[in-house]
Amino acid sequence: MLEIRDLECAYGPVTALRGITLDIGEGELVALIGANGAGKSTTLRAISGLVKPKAGSIRFCGEDIGGTDPARIISRGIAHCPEGRRVFPYMTVAENLMIGAYLRSDSAAVRDDMDRVYTDFPRLKERRSQAAGTLSGGEQQMLAIGRAMMSRPKLMVFDEPSLGLAPTIVEQTLSIIRRINDAGTTVLLVEQNAFAALELCDHAYLLEIGRIVRRGSGDDLMADPKVRSAYLGGE
Ligand code: ATP
Repeated sequence: MLEIRDLECAYGPVTALRGITLDIGEGELVALIGANGAGKSTTLRAISGLVKPKAGSIRFCGEDIGGTDPARIISRGIAHCPEGRRVFPYMTVAENLMIGAYLRSDSAAVRDDMDRVYTDFPRLKERRSQAAGTLSGGEQQMLAIGRAMMSRPKLMVFDEPSLGLAPTIVEQTLSIIRRINDAGTTVLLVEQNAFAALELCDHAYLLEIGRIVRRGSGDDLMADPKVRSAYLGGE
C-alpha cells in the first residue's frame, strides 16, 4: 500500500532522512522506532505532504505522492495524527471532529462517522459542546484520533500518541490504535515507547540518524541485542 524508496529530506542545511526504504502492506500495523532526532516525525511528515522530499519516492496505492500537497494526500486516504495532539483549543469537540471531514461532501456519511466516533469515545460525546482546550490530555488524544478517523482514511499515521499521557491512558490509546487496525485501517505508528510499539505491530523498522538500520517482526526486534540495549533498557 505504501512504498517508500531511498527517501531523503532536509530542513535547509539539516539533513533529516538519508535514504530510507520502507514498505507497508494493506491492513498492517507497522511501527517505526528510534531515538530522538532519528527522523521518525520527518518520515511521517513526508508521507503526509508536510515536508517535501529532496530525493527518492513515496508511492501510495500505486500512485506517486511525494511532494503532493497535504490536502490532496488526505483525500487520497492518508490521515496524520500529529505529535502533541494539536487540537484546536477554542473550538468545540464537535467542531474539531468536523474539521477532520472538511474535504468530504458526503454529509450523511460524515454524520454516521461522527456517530461512530462518539460510540468509540463516549467521553467525546459527553463533551461535544465543550472547548477542546478544556479536555484532559487523554481526552485531547482521543479527539485527535477521532478527528483523523473523520477523513475515512485507508492509512493512519500516528506520531507519538502516548507522549505525556498517564500510563493507564497510554494503554487505552494503544488499544484504540489496535482496534482501528483490526477494523481494517492500515497503521504506521511512531512511538518512543518501543516496547509497547513492538508488542503491538506486525513488523517494525528501527531508524537511526536518518537511516533504517533494522527491519523485522516485533518479536525479532525485541530480541535484537542492539534494540534491547538502546531502546528497551535491556542488557
Ligand atoms: P523526536 O522524537 O524528537 O520528534 P524524530 O525521530 O521524530 O525525533 P525528527 O523530528 O524527524 O526526529 O528530526 C530529524 C532531524 O531533523 C533532527 O536532527 C532534527 O533536529 C531535525 N529537524 C526536525 N524538524 C526540524 C525543523 N523544523 N527545522 C530544522 N531541523 C529540524
